[in-house]
Amino acid sequence: MARICVFCGSSSGTDPKYIESAEELGRKLVEQGYGLVYGGASIGTMGAVADAVLSAGGEVVGVIPQSIADMEVAHTGLSKLEVVADMHQRKARMMQLSDGFISMPGGLGTLEELFEVLTWAQLGLHKKPSALLNLDGYYDSLLEFLDNARDQGFAKQAHIDTLAVSPTVEAILPALMAAPKAQVAKV
Ligand code: AMP
Repeated sequence: MARICVFCGSSSGTDPKYIESAEELGRKLVEQGYGLVYGGASIGTMGAVADAVLSAGGEVVGVIPQSIADMEVAHTGLSKLEVVADMHQRKARMMQLSDGFISMPGGLGTLEELFEVLTWAQLGLHKKPSALLNLDGYYDSLLEFLDNARDQGFAKQAHIDTLAVSPTVEAILPALMAAPKAQVAKV
């Protein structure tokens, strides 16, 4: 089965729309025949997307280090929970198990995961697509920053373009599938 990795918050955000959009994405994944790979937590928008996939009868694989399992309250009802040694293995395994990546609104951990999959793509280490859910402009300032990095000569537009951006959950899977591959060498 094709699986999509979702990066999102271990927090719920201040507005209910964040949990609601995580639930909507979970339902969409199942509707379109995708399994979910994520960080294995039961809290925040991470827990919400996993619960929505499970409620809709879909498959969820969580990947979590033992040291984080208590802090993020590892989800006990997943199709499969893989307990790994550390954060590096967590990301490597999530990447291995997935056919594409969606980043939802989230915090520092979400940003770290988003940029790792993008930077690995620009180095040619994988060819899997990435998409960003820019819900109500949540990531506008990040996208402006990327334009600045390009203008200052530190990032190539072709690499920035590998991140498909969608303002809605409705449009994000088509955007992910249409995301351009990194064709240009980093250096
Ligand atoms: P946050 O967006 O900060 O709520 O974090 C979302 C998820 O990213 C949580 O499962 C964090 O454990 C995870 N995370 C935080 N830092 C990192 C990191 N350096 N590498 C990989 N995952 C991380």
